[in-house]
Amino acid sequence: MYPLKQPFVTLEQLQEITKQYPTPFHLYDEKGIRENVRKLRQAFAWNPGFREFFAVKATPNPTILKVLREEGCGTDCSSLTELMLSHRCGFTGKEIMFSSNDTPAEEFRLAAQLGATINLDDFTHIDFLKESIGYIPETISCRFNPGGTFTIGESAEGFQVMDNPGESKYGFTREQLTEGFRKLKAMGAKRFGIHAFLASNTLSNQYYPTLAGILFRTAVELREETGCDIQFINLSGGIGIPYRPEQPANDILAIGEGVRKQYEEILVPAGMGKVALCTELGRFLLGPYGCLVTKVLHFKHTYKEYVGVDACAANLMRPAMYGAYHHITVMGKEDAPCDHKYDVTGSLCENNDKFAVDRMLPEVQIGDLLVIHDTGAHGFSMGYNYNGRLRSAEVLLREDGSTKLIRRAETPEDYFATMVFD
Ligand SMILES: *Cc1c(COP(=O)(O)O)cnc(C)c1O
Repeated sequence: MYPLKQPFVTLEQLQEITKQYPTPFHLYDEKGIRENVRKLRQAFAWNPGFREFFAVKATPNPTILKVLREEGCGTDCSSLTELMLSHRCGFTGKEIMFSSNDTPAEEFRLAAQLGATINLDDFTHIDFLKESIGYIPETISCRFNPGGTFTIGESAEGFQVMDNPGESKYGFTREQLTEGFRKLKAMGAKRFGIHAFLASNTLSNQYYPTLAGILFRTAVELREETGCDIQFINLSGGIGIPYRPEQPANDILAIGEGVRKQYEEILVPAGMGKVALCTELGRFLLGPYGCLVTKVLHFKHTYKEYVGVDACAANLMRPAMYGAYHHITVMGKEDAPCDHKYDVTGSLCENNDKFAVDRMLPEVQIGDLLVIHDTGAHGFSMGYNYNGRLRSAEVLLREDGSTKLIRRAETPEDYFATMVFD
């Protein structure tokens, strides 16, 4: 994590980079990514079977996926193309987790063909999977949804975590889990896993340990009820990042220790001290290690002060979609006082196309380069083509300071490629 929201590039570096790649583009920090994965693996090194399955949807880029593979990660997929992408990047068999929902038959077929671990979202998918692929795989996982609300009281860091599993479309109920395990066992499954994702973007070192407690107790009960051999427990995603400068970052080493405590209190005494842990982190793994680089095109002074940039919500949807905060640095003015209030806008004909509203920034000039932080996960990947806007390039800042184009920008030809002109 970069202290005080310092960008991971300097103005001088960006001036060089923008000579080669026109703005806007997403830039990723290879060094930061590798260090962060190593820290995650260190946090769970006490669990011999531990593996991170990177949530492909967060950053579906082949070069990034290959970097993650070199660092020992697998992938977590939830669609046909994500499976295909993982396969093309060299992931095979149990390096792929397929955690999907509302799943089409062809996706189960490809997942099974690749030997991926299938994580079922629903009780009825047991029969659907059997119909789709003709058998029940020997290794199978089920997603648990305990319902109700999920809260972690005021955490030590001063942030509360709350979410509503009872309102979420995912997973088996507790009763369905017992019934499902019995049914799967009768149909030939031998090795079982359980999975749950109960809260998103959590800023608390207690989220994983609390979730682990729930899953570990459930695993012990399920083994007693069904006799199933539970070999892995998947804590999924949900560890957050501090999008705002005043927010505290999660401490992954403390999180790993918190999970270890639960493991030793619950699983080990139950004779389940060999269970492997999995994670499917997206945001935590990559979010801070990407940014959107954009240039100021226009100023507009009406009822408010507007700064118009050359990126738009089609390049980064989170602010428009959820009102999400993304920190902005005006490059070269890092130490200037933030004494001007601006709305930073893109060009879409949608008034929610604003990267920031009433944001205090240093005085901005036309031509300034802005870094929009924390776009390394759920950034580029949520892009779309509204208003005929094209997806940007993705560039990797390598460990030696050089850059590599890891996805070219779309061209008008890409935009027209699927259209039918009679
Ligand atoms: C989106 C998703 C993730 C990753 O979530 P983050 O919030 O990026 O950590 C992991 N697992 C599943 C099944 C998901 O849908």
